[in-house]
Amino acid sequence: MLTVDNINFNGKRALIRVDFNVPLDKQTLAIADDSRITATLPTIKKILADGGSCILMSHLGRPKEGPEDKYSLKHIVPHLAELTGTTVHFANDCIGQEAKDLATAIKPGEILLLENLRFYKQEEKGDIEFARTLSTLGDIYVNDAFGTAHRAHASTAVIAQFFKGNKCFGYVMANEIANAQKIMKHAEHPFTAIVGGAKVSDKLLIIENLLNVADNILIGGGMAYTFMKAQGGRIGNSLCEDDRLELTLELLAKAKQKGVALLLPSDSVAADAFNNDANKKDLPSGEIPDGWMGLDIGPNAANDYAEVVSNSKTILWNGPMGVFEMPSFENGTKQVALAVAKATKQGAFSLIGGGDSAAAINKFGLEDEVSYVSTGGGALLEYFEGKELPGIAAILND
Ligand code: AMP
Repeated sequence: MLTVDNINFNGKRALIRVDFNVPLDKQTLAIADDSRITATLPTIKKILADGGSCILMSHLGRPKEGPEDKYSLKHIVPHLAELTGTTVHFANDCIGQEAKDLATAIKPGEILLLENLRFYKQEEKGDIEFARTLSTLGDIYVNDAFGTAHRAHASTAVIAQFFKGNKCFGYVMANEIANAQKIMKHAEHPFTAIVGGAKVSDKLLIIENLLNVADNILIGGGMAYTFMKAQGGRIGNSLCEDDRLELTLELLAKAKQKGVALLLPSDSVAADAFNNDANKKDLPSGEIPDGWMGLDIGPNAANDYAEVVSNSKTILWNGPMGVFEMPSFENGTKQVALAVAKATKQGAFSLIGGGDSAAAINKFGLEDEVSYVSTGGGALLEYFEGKELPGIAAILND
């Protein structure tokens, strides 16, 4: 894989697509969580240490019609200067004369941050002229934004064609790809995938693709109840997608045919309201009466799942087992997280991916006890769905 390690950036301007789409405080516009910025620091530092300069481009938020102050990347500049210990110039427009002048004047060791790419509609449309204009700002294109790798946007994919022989992955991208490949291409068996979250429709494709590689698929979260209902279970007021009932039966049949153990939670923590203080009781997942809803996998299911996980050599986890944000319904997710940590300690490779699973693992303080926590929600999901990600393909296909 071609990474920044394969290139000497001395005297070169690296045009780097970063993911600085960080949450900002609504009132003060202060950075609420800088992990996406710190993640890409090694890439920036390697290029600066070589004697190169960095021209950074990113999106921030979802601006609708052109520039909006609350989505300006200028709010990032002071923190970026502090983190990198170097001069950070800012261009008030990602294209145009000012950006051009600043990119021409930049000195080795310095950084130039361009204004939000999504102030231009052309970015998300993948406009080739917009990509060409951006490309004139740098000598070498580096993509370090895994979070947008599944988008064929101007700065994430289209631009790469203007850097034939002069493009590579940054460390964030390279790490994400290497870890995802460990799961999909080089998994040691038994391989267990834990798939949870609210909606089965979001996870159908990933489950379908995982049926080709995994030995066990453990289903949890709200999506489990569509499976239960399809099999004739009573699920009360639990989440359910009635238009997917047939598809869940097909998945169960495919799993059987392929010899994959697709497990559903034998019991659930049911509640009489979607509320942390609701009355709750443990019930078989297919025997939930009207007026009650399954909000977590039950203790028996948590034990079953923990046991499967503890016997696994490769573990992929996407989506929580229940409404883990509420302490009353966090136990299933917590037990599974602890089992993943334990298996990792015993030598298993574990990858946690998707925003909510990462949030869950952080909530239980276990982020350092798993092998890898991915930063790319949608991108990672699409990778595991078996799709080609445009941001990756654009670097690989010269
Ligand atoms: P997703 O983004 O699809 O991975 O879903 C994550 C969300 O699903 C979290 O906010 C959970 O609170 C929610 N969730 C998980 N299990 C359930 C459940 N049994 N009922 C309702 N929501 C759930």
